[in-house]
Amino acid sequence: MKEERGLSTLCVHGGELKDAHGAPHTPLYDTTTFAFDSTADLLDVVEGRKSGALYTRYGLNPTIQSLEAKLALLEGAQSALAFGSGMAATAALFLAHGREGIVCIGDAYGGTLDLLQNQLPLLGIPTQLLLTREAERLGVLLGGSKKLVFFETPTNPALEIIDIRRMASLAHEFGALVAVDSTFASPVNQRPLAWGADIVVHSATKYLGGHSDLTAGALMGPEALLAPIRAWRSNLGQTIAAETAQLLARSLRTLVVRVERHNENAQAVARALRDHERVKTVFYPGLEDHPGHEIACRQMQGFGGMVTIDVQGDAADATRIVDRLQWIKIAPSLGGVESLVTQPMTTTHHGLSVAERARRGITDTMIRLSIGLEDPDDLVSDLRQALR
Ligand code: PLP
Repeated sequence: MKEERGLSTLCVHGGELKDAHGAPHTPLYDTTTFAFDSTADLLDVVEGRKSGALYTRYGLNPTIQSLEAKLALLEGAQSALAFGSGMAATAALFLAHGREGIVCIGDAYGGTLDLLQNQLPLLGIPTQLLLTREAERLGVLLGGSKKLVFFETPTNPALEIIDIRRMASLAHEFGALVAVDSTFASPVNQRPLAWGADIVVHSATKYLGGHSDLTAGALMGPEALLAPIRAWRSNLGQTIAAETAQLLARSLRTLVVRVERHNENAQAVARALRDHERVKTVFYPGLEDHPGHEIACRQMQGFGGMVTIDVQGDAADATRIVDRLQWIKIAPSLGGVESLVTQPMTTTHHGLSVAERARRGITDTMIRLSIGLEDPDDLVSDLRQALR
């Protein structure tokens, strides 16, 4: 499969195996191990002379290998690794490439921040967190050892846009590696490797899975950088299950159609809420007055399905609005076909102190919406009745 094929074609056909029975897609190899005709054949795979199936926890299972080939094509990467969750992918990345220090720019998912602030330091791994507006200080922090620079874009929950090309060139001047969590964008809207990032991170639980029915993660990048991560993944036992790999590959076949519709619906909701008297701010990179709009227009093909609003009143008012929504369900995830709503202070950023949330600009009146694939008019009316 050539990389220059269109993304929709790659979603459907990329990485698919031809089996002996003519199955149109890679079947599920619900198998923990694979048998060989001879010890010589087994050693060919164990010693890397031949690629092949061997043991599922190593990722050497055709269902997983086929999924990884598709994932790599979608990000224009040489290789991909699939994990049992997004956090498993992030943790393996940090352990393999962040041991000399990690600098995280901007806001990130609460679990990632917890890992960086509270758990990695227990292992002696130095971590530093910069706000998006402090990003230009990156150079000061990168002197000396070979560090890992990590950021999400768009960020969670304020949907700030970080300039991947700018951060990658700054980091590379100091010999640092750059990993971008592109979960909120998906490869349909953003391909960080094309802008100079070294590794892309995805919580495949979100848009890649797309139906809120699987938990998985992925890393994409050059084989030389993924090889050490693969070793951590094997021994920490973080490899995606074959059953989940098959379900994720099924979901990826419709990724482009789903994400394009998420983009359209979110843009419609963002526009409808912009002039609402109860809404102080709409954070959506597709709006011309969003501070990251210009960079988003350059580095993204679409602005995504996430919309965050800041409403008038206090935390209790925001909760009342959330509780009154009918189609849009209260849940802490995103990226599925159904619209979901969450208040960052009650879920993703619940673990941060009030002062730290304030420093990061995460208010008690912020409401984060994951806009699904329902009719946009129904979503807008649901939001209007809740705001009323
Ligand atoms: N990255 C981002 C941007 C997320 O939103 C999440 C989870 O919400 C994760 C990583 C972690 O993913 P998972 O829940 O699949 O472990």
